[in-house]
Amino acid sequence: MKVNARGLTLDELTNHIIALGEKPYRARQVYHWITAKAAQSFDEMTDLPKGLRAKLSEVFSLELPEVIEIQTAQDGTTKFALLLKDGEVIEMVLIPERDHFTLCVSSQVGCSMGCKFCLTARSGFKRNLETWEIISQVVLAKRWLKERGESLPLRNIVFMGMGEPLANYTNLVQSLKILADHEGFNFSRKRLTVSTAGIVPKIWALAKDFPTALAVSLHSADQSLRDYLMPGVKQYPLSDLRESIKAFPRIKNGRTTIEYILLKDINDGEEHAEKLYRFLKGLKVKVNLIPFNPHPELPFKRPEPERVEAFQRYLLNRGILTTVRKSKGLEISAACGQLRRRVLSPNSFQAVSAEGASSICV
Ligand code: SF4
Repeated sequence: MKVNARGLTLDELTNHIIALGEKPYRARQVYHWITAKAAQSFDEMTDLPKGLRAKLSEVFSLELPEVIEIQTAQDGTTKFALLLKDGEVIEMVLIPERDHFTLCVSSQVGCSMGCKFCLTARSGFKRNLETWEIISQVVLAKRWLKERGESLPLRNIVFMGMGEPLANYTNLVQSLKILADHEGFNFSRKRLTVSTAGIVPKIWALAKDFPTALAVSLHSADQSLRDYLMPGVKQYPLSDLRESIKAFPRIKNGRTTIEYILLKDINDGEEHAEKLYRFLKGLKVKVNLIPFNPHPELPFKRPEPERVEAFQRYLLNRGILTTVRKSKGLEISAACGQLRRRVLSPNSFQAVSAEGASSICV
């Protein structure tokens, strides 16, 4: 079976290419083509002899998932449904910012964390993505931008799409190494963000193995409420989570992002803000408040703007950097898991409200 070269680090690719009787510098050339230049085939690698290109294509695959649906919202946020070899579908979202693009990638097909406010959780967990399937999302985004003649660069990669990245730890770390390699994609580690529901032992592991920017989905600083909202991480107490956030290395003195989805009358009151403040006091963090976007299949409501503002003000007045996330791309299937579901079951689209459902990513 052919090895998909997109899942290999430069060192691994070099070993393969030396084993084929070729010089190591050929590996560097190939690596540059498949990462920075987002090549789709060996034929594009015009600085390689034809014979070598043929030889490489017998050993390596450069296969990419198939883009089966693209939806672009008025603000330019673009959501892609990608068909994998085994018939599974994942999503990625490309988000235009002032001077660059951010790509939100999936790390698993489905998710086992069971967060009560998340549509992806409803479909359960199917499987982990292979490294090449994670990297392919970046390649497809780069190709899409290039085909459109976009001048702004793809600068940020956030692991906030479908799945819990730390539950696919080995492939996550391999992907981060490939994305950060100066001879390839060359993303700054500060611009690679791993977002976790709070798998504490893996946060410690990432801190040691390959620290990047970190985002933690907290959603409540009350243990029993958090256990209810996020049953997949209830074995990790908030006190342990806090310790792991505190100790996590900060790339270029950055702050850990705390994601907090605001659910009307569930976690949006002053008492919740107070608990959150006590949890965050002394940590180098910024809080991202995400007012919930209702969906017919989810039992929560969106708080009124005044309540969101009061929550934000409570934290700001106590010195906690706090922003409210503007939902982007609301008129498309904006929630994590929503486009996938629509593609797999087209009739279900009728039931989706125009406003879209909860999303951590957009
Ligand atoms: S919010 Fe994230 S961690 Fe929770 S179920 Fe959804 S995809 Fe999984």
